[in-house]
Amino acid sequence: MTIDLEIARATTLQPIAAIAARAGIPEAAVEPYGRLKAKIAPEAVAAGRDGRLILVTAINPTPAGEGKTTMSVGLADALNLTGRRTMLCLREPSLGPCFGQKGGATGGGHAQIGPMDDINLHFTGDFHAVTAAHNLLAAMIDNHVHWGNALDIDVRRISWRRVLDMNDRALRQTVQGLGGPGSGFPRESGFDITVASEVMAILCLAGDPADLQDRLGRIVIGQTRDRRPVTARDLKADGAMAVLLKDALRPNLVQTLAGNPALVHGGPFANIAHGCNSVIATRTALRLADYVVTEAGFGADLGAEKFFDIKCRQAGLVPDAAVLVATVRALKMNGGVARADLAREDVAAVTRGAANLVRHIENLRLFGVPVVVALNHFGGDSEAEIAAVRAAATAAWVDLHVCRQWAEGGAGAVDLAEAVAALAEGGSARFAPLYPDDLPLFDKIETVARRIYRAERVEAGPAIRRQLAAWDAAGHGHLPVCIAKTQYSFSADPALLGAPEGHVLPVREVRLAAGAGFVVAVCGDIMTMPGLPRQPAAEAIHLDPDGLVQGLF
Ligand code: ADP
Ligand code: MG
Repeated sequence: MTIDLEIARATTLQPIAAIAARAGIPEAAVEPYGRLKAKIAPEAVAAGRDGRLILVTAINPTPAGEGKTTMSVGLADALNLTGRRTMLCLREPSLGPCFGQKGGATGGGHAQIGPMDDINLHFTGDFHAVTAAHNLLAAMIDNHVHWGNALDIDVRRISWRRVLDMNDRALRQTVQGLGGPGSGFPRESGFDITVASEVMAILCLAGDPADLQDRLGRIVIGQTRDRRPVTARDLKADGAMAVLLKDALRPNLVQTLAGNPALVHGGPFANIAHGCNSVIATRTALRLADYVVTEAGFGADLGAEKFFDIKCRQAGLVPDAAVLVATVRALKMNGGVARADLAREDVAAVTRGAANLVRHIENLRLFGVPVVVALNHFGGDSEAEIAAVRAAATAAWVDLHVCRQWAEGGAGAVDLAEAVAALAEGGSARFAPLYPDDLPLFDKIETVARRIYRAERVEAGPAIRRQLAAWDAAGHGHLPVCIAKTQYSFSADPALLGAPEGHVLPVREVRLAAGAGFVVAVCGDIMTMPGLPRQPAAEAIHLDPDGLVQGLF
């Protein structure tokens, strides 16, 4: 059994009704899904506490692992442990990475949420609902063309593909409609993973059911033969899609291993989408708790920037503090050490790699959000290496707390909790997004590239600049931009670690997500349908003789 699963199994979870009661959720708002999960009806949770919003983000990820989810869970447990009414808001895991390489997304060690096998597998069916709603629209597009194509859709310019919540490279490019006239018109298309669906991003940004349906209607699926956009509303698909999503729109309540409440809801990609849990869950949690801890995907250059510029901007959320997670191991890799050599003490490499940490600290300040560094402690970290990280943080005028949440649970993150609470209550936050709504789309991309990535310039061909200008003119210019680039570097080159400057950000493609409400700038090769590795995690996952799931991590 994996150690995470072993710890999870050794913990007796409480009935979800008890968790809900302790979180102050009115009974009328709780819809149990079995004994350990519940959907929460947000409309039945009255305005209340107006809590402080705390973002957990990280330095650029490396294969050495950072531990944002683990830190989020540990911090929420530590805040509760110190008498502060706190709720955790996380994303739902996707099946693709569970059976592929990365594993699930329920934390680890003594900082986990449960029931971990349910959450990592079908959970309450939200992802299946997103898949169904997405594919209903795809079916209605082909059906519309089959029955005469009254909208004059150009079948060569349909950008709406199909989705599946699985890593399946064989479906990236497909030919569909084979089998003669009864099966429609053959055309090229393909599949993306469900978390890459615009429907997922919409579910996570919608404020309520009416907003959900409205956003679904705005989805652009392709063009007519005279190049006008065709929307889901033109196809009359928005209503039925919203119906399929009606339960998925409600946040899911689960618990940490320490019995504290967690809303786990929605799971958009952090590259071609904005990478954080739903607006509805975050708003609901803020009404119930004094502190809400939430995580954004990847490093702060992608995750935090999008959390602030897309989610907080659209939802009018005001973050009070940010926690920047770092590990000695990842800083060593940023300082040039190979993965195989991570076990050896190397203070100089930690100091070099800390440039990455300092860059993220500077960036978070650009949004007016006060920051504290959480060093996620691993067994092999030496005192001298930890001192080197502390020196870098201190030089940047930021406090650092060594956290042992993985080994000890909330008790290992009490110092961090005290510091975060003081920071969030201190009133020093002056949150503002990085750029105003009315900046032209290209200039928004350039602002993020220059100020967050420290690129010298943005490289974009004339067709891309024309397209952005056309969207500005067509009334989409007020949207924020969502940059899809590698998570490993501030630049678009995954091998450029540390704190590179003066690089060029190449924009290869731009996509309008009119329903989600952002314009995606694709910089580099972004995989929207991952493949499985040579030895997928699925090979080790099985049911034991007692019918229990084994091998999940
Ligand atoms: P992220 O959210 O940044 O992707 P997670 O919190 O999910 O990272 O952690 C990734 C993996 O690393 C998990 O399997 C977790 O158990 C493990 N991990 C995290 N922190 C530690 C630690 N301090 N010691 C050992 N393993 C850890
Ligand atoms: Mg995570």
